[in-house]
Amino acid sequence: MTNKMSPSGTILVVDDSTTSRTWAKLRLLRAGYEVLEAKTAAEALGRISQQAPDLILLDVILPDQDGYAVTRQLRQNADLASIPVILLTSLEDVTSKVQGLEAGANDFLTKPPDEAELLARVETQLRLKRSREELLAEKSKTELLYRVSRELGAELDLDTLLMRLLELTTTSLDASGGSLILLDEQQRPVGTISSRQGQVTQISRALWEEVVREGLASWVIQHRQGTMIQDTQQDERWLVREDAHSTSRSVMAAPLIQEGWVVGVLTLTHEEIARFDLSHLDLVSSIATQAAVVIQKARVYRKEQLWARKLQFVNGVSHQVASILNPDQLLEDVAWLVRQTFGYYYVELALLDGDSLISQGWHSCRDPQVELSPTHLDLSSEGIMPWVARYGAPLLAVGERRQEFGSPHVDLPDTVAELGVPLRLGGEVLGVLDVQSDRHDQLGEADVPLLEILAAQISVALSNARLFEAVERERGRLEAILTGTADAIVTTDGELRITLLNPAAERAFGISFAQAAGRSIGKVLTPAALYDVFCQAKKDDGRSPPTELVLDDGRTLFFHVSPVAGPKGERGWVAVMQDITHLKELDQMKTDFVATVSHDLRSPLTSIRGYADLLLKSLVEGQHQEFVRYIKTSAEQMADLVQDLLDLGKIEAGVETVREACALNQLVQESLEAAFFQAELRKIALQQELPPERCSVSGDSRQLRQVLDNLLSNALKYSPVGGMVTVRLRRQDRQVLLEVQDSGIGIPQEALPRLFEKFYRVPSPQVDKIPGTGLGLAIVKAIVEAHDGQLWVESREGQGSRFFVALPAYANPGAATGPGL
Ligand code: ADP
Repeated sequence: MTNKMSPSGTILVVDDSTTSRTWAKLRLLRAGYEVLEAKTAAEALGRISQQAPDLILLDVILPDQDGYAVTRQLRQNADLASIPVILLTSLEDVTSKVQGLEAGANDFLTKPPDEAELLARVETQLRLKRSREELLAEKSKTELLYRVSRELGAELDLDTLLMRLLELTTTSLDASGGSLILLDEQQRPVGTISSRQGQVTQISRALWEEVVREGLASWVIQHRQGTMIQDTQQDERWLVREDAHSTSRSVMAAPLIQEGWVVGVLTLTHEEIARFDLSHLDLVSSIATQAAVVIQKARVYRKEQLWARKLQFVNGVSHQVASILNPDQLLEDVAWLVRQTFGYYYVELALLDGDSLISQGWHSCRDPQVELSPTHLDLSSEGIMPWVARYGAPLLAVGERRQEFGSPHVDLPDTVAELGVPLRLGGEVLGVLDVQSDRHDQLGEADVPLLEILAAQISVALSNARLFEAVERERGRLEAILTGTADAIVTTDGELRITLLNPAAERAFGISFAQAAGRSIGKVLTPAALYDVFCQAKKDDGRSPPTELVLDDGRTLFFHVSPVAGPKGERGWVAVMQDITHLKELDQMKTDFVATVSHDLRSPLTSIRGYADLLLKSLVEGQHQEFVRYIKTSAEQMADLVQDLLDLGKIEAGVETVREACALNQLVQESLEAAFFQAELRKIALQQELPPERCSVSGDSRQLRQVLDNLLSNALKYSPVGGMVTVRLRRQDRQVLLEVQDSGIGIPQEALPRLFEKFYRVPSPQVDKIPGTGLGLAIVKAIVEAHDGQLWVESREGQGSRFFVALPAYANPGAATGPGL
């Protein structure tokens, strides 16, 4: 292929006879051939090795070797074997012809030959030689094309494919370098590869773009056909640059055409001028056509593969990000993950904080040279990210369109397309996911919904991570409280196995949490009564009644057990225990004191009352008797006071309080009966309005009776003679409402706020005349509150009063027992 033929060919005439040689030479020159001469076999072989002729006219008889020997040597040399040899012989006999043919000669001429015959034979042999060569060339071309389709057809990886194609083409066409440019629909380069002397060379993106815009590739794209440059220095289509290919002198380039559009350009180069001819170009063009099919197939495959990968990623990303519970870490990892998986040039996540978009290093760029700093963008500023955050909608800007949104927030040299997608949760914009591509075919409309799904997943993961962080903070706070509090806290799971002992509990029970964890409360904590309380709460499936627990060391803990949800929503139990040892001591002291007081005061008071009675009976009517009556009344008042004080003390301390179902209907009746004589005396009509159904509450019947007695006695006390007192009882929702109404003196507005204070009495001459301690209502209030109820009064001075008591109704009246049932 590298041999170049002159129009008619070069013929070597070998003959030791100068006359014969010159005769032939002149004829051949006249016919347009170039002629070389040799006198001997050695000379002929020397010339042939210097320059291979297109045909040899060889005399059989030579001084050194015969023509047969020369022919045989030629045929043994692969490079020279195809040169046609015509033997010149004076011998007519058949034997010598056979000998010649055996040696490998192509034809014979008998000396002296006829001129016309000589030229005809020469021409025939030359034609035959050319046909043979063409045939061979065609065969190797077919073989090459077959290799292209066979070796590359199965290759689906685009990069490997391009590499193999370039390798195959450069070696087959003996080129020293080459390149392949892949183009998108807008004829922009989307993939490039170049090599020289079998090594991949790097060419800048800018140069590729330029070549496609105005270089040789541009010409090929425009004309949709191959072309050759014999000398790059004479052709302005070759853009001379300081790169690996600047020394190229011969070039040929062919378009890769697929379904009507140029999908790429294949270029081959060589340092020698005019290295390629039309047959080369023809071959390159055929290869390019063949390659277009396989390349396009690989491109489609790559696109689909990438799409599948994207889908798979989006599908799987929620699992990956869900495990990241630190929001900062999450955003950083997602930026990296998305860029890696999707192959984007740049990915950034920014969060909305008031009027700013902030990204603290949650970005990832393929180009390590690009320096990235945390973004802090005002919402009103230019660029795609603020736009997306403002409108809460995705935005895709490709090429020039990006400029419409003002200068980008980060200056990246290779970005050609940018897509911003809002991170939204429940209509609220949390931030923006921004991806940028340096390839024209990477970001399209199809990516928008995909990245929206991704953004939604990131948003959910982000809010989860934030929630987790908040919970963690809360947990830390709780832990600090648990550790710091003086109350002993014990929690268990549903099976009463210990799940927590705070330090105060560790101290109280003398066991570390590490030792107790996971073990049954009954086996680890003493006294056993504690376990019983937990069991009771579990059995009742609710809150245990307040309990006092005396520890082995004599200290007293006050607590009740309540249900609590465990970390996975399962039911557990908790007891918060107050150390009431000092209160108990105080209480004891108080009880002792009260006992002493009652003992010390009650006895003399009883004596005073007794002797006053005696005196009253023995004394005659007069001033003395009045004094004694006064002594008696005072003693009675003091006894009442002592009694009230004792009651109040007990109620407030919560001692002797019991909880049982009490039917108030019954208690009201009992109280009314007891008040009957007092009412008779004062001519006051006593009325009752009781419902037919039972109004039960959970409580201490003795105390509740005291509430009724106190209210009723006040109503009678503070009503003038001939008045009316009504007691009403009714159920109202989940409460029982008791009302005591009188037609008495009423209470002035300004006195109402202080009415339930201890020792408070309305300061009025009317009240002063009526005996009282000012403790009755304070006792009522203490009892009602101890029963989780409410107490209030409505009253107008001179018009009477209405006292109300609301108590929670007993949950299961059918099961109520106790007094009055
Ligand atoms: P006392 O022993 O003085 O009755 P209470 O605590 O029972 O003490 O009542 C406090 C004050 O409230 C009474 O002194 C009286 O002034 C006023 N009070 C109580 N009940 C009535 C009522 N039904 N009518 C008018 N005033 C009342």
